[in-house]
Amino acid sequence: MYSSEVSASEVSASEVSVSEVSVSEVSVSEVSVSEVSVSELPVSELPISEFSASFPTPATERIIIPGREFAPVREVFCSVQGEGPYVGARQAFVRFSGCNLKCKYCDTDFANPGTCDYEPAEGSASFEKVPNPLSARQLEALLQPFKNLHSVSLTGGEPLLHADFIGKLDLSAPLYLESNMTLPEQARKIKDRVVYVAGDFKLPEALGLKKRDAREDHIENTVGCFKILRTNETRDCFCKIVMSRDSDSASVLSAVDAIADYVSCVILQPETVMEGQAGGINTQSPVKTLIELQNMLLEKIDTRIIPQTHRMWGCL
Ligand code: SF4
Repeated sequence: MYSSEVSASEVSASEVSVSEVSVSEVSVSEVSVSEVSVSELPVSELPISEFSASFPTPATERIIIPGREFAPVREVFCSVQGEGPYVGARQAFVRFSGCNLKCKYCDTDFANPGTCDYEPAEGSASFEKVPNPLSARQLEALLQPFKNLHSVSLTGGEPLLHADFIGKLDLSAPLYLESNMTLPEQARKIKDRVVYVAGDFKLPEALGLKKRDAREDHIENTVGCFKILRTNETRDCFCKIVMSRDSDSASVLSAVDAIADYVSCVILQPETVMEGQAGGINTQSPVKTLIELQNMLLEKIDTRIIPQTHRMWGCL
């Protein structure tokens, strides 16, 4: 079903049984998802209208409708943080399935294959398949063997799609949210639960947003998210901007202007070139551009250039 064929307002959602819904297929703001039967997830009461208006356009990736009690989790493992100011910190990682964006440089497999890859012994590269979706209690049990953690990284995909589920987690280690920062109403649900926020500012060009309205909506949602999850006495929120050759320095300056009051620092992260990637190193932002940009941003806020370090030594 595509939006060009039928408007969501023309159908009764109670007549529809879905396991996945693409944002490009229906206008979710017009659908009461509490009436939709979601075969993949036992509990499907999510009032998606609470955050539907926050979906930036276009969002062409298929997303999984999350439930309150269960969530599709792609991977659970223990490693070290590879990005940003907490690089090297020991973390357990929970990679949720599903994302509401489709970034040009995305290198993450966040599809839901029906099972979660679980590495019980850190660094072993030996994975067990655990059936999805997981309950909060099941996830807590999977994380239980991991000791001496700085924090538990909630990543994806987009973890804020599963904010209700995250709100039910009871973990001893602090929560470290890695988010694309485009779902402010979802962010509001867990703002008092997360201690670290690694928030992306996705540049409109990275999402292929060309229409002015779409760009403005995207920026409004992103700034709204940073405002809700801002740095305060109990939370450190910082901003990461992935820099490719397409990244426009003026866009970065304007993005940082908009969120500088809410974050402790800004990380310029050079796009990682993957083996066999089309364009190779030519897709990267030139060193000179990054260094000059950092110099300009330092006039406003602590700004660091940090590449993805986990890619350098092959850890997860
Ligand atoms: S937000 Fe993250 S997971 Fe989603 S498409 Fe962009 S890079 Fe990939």
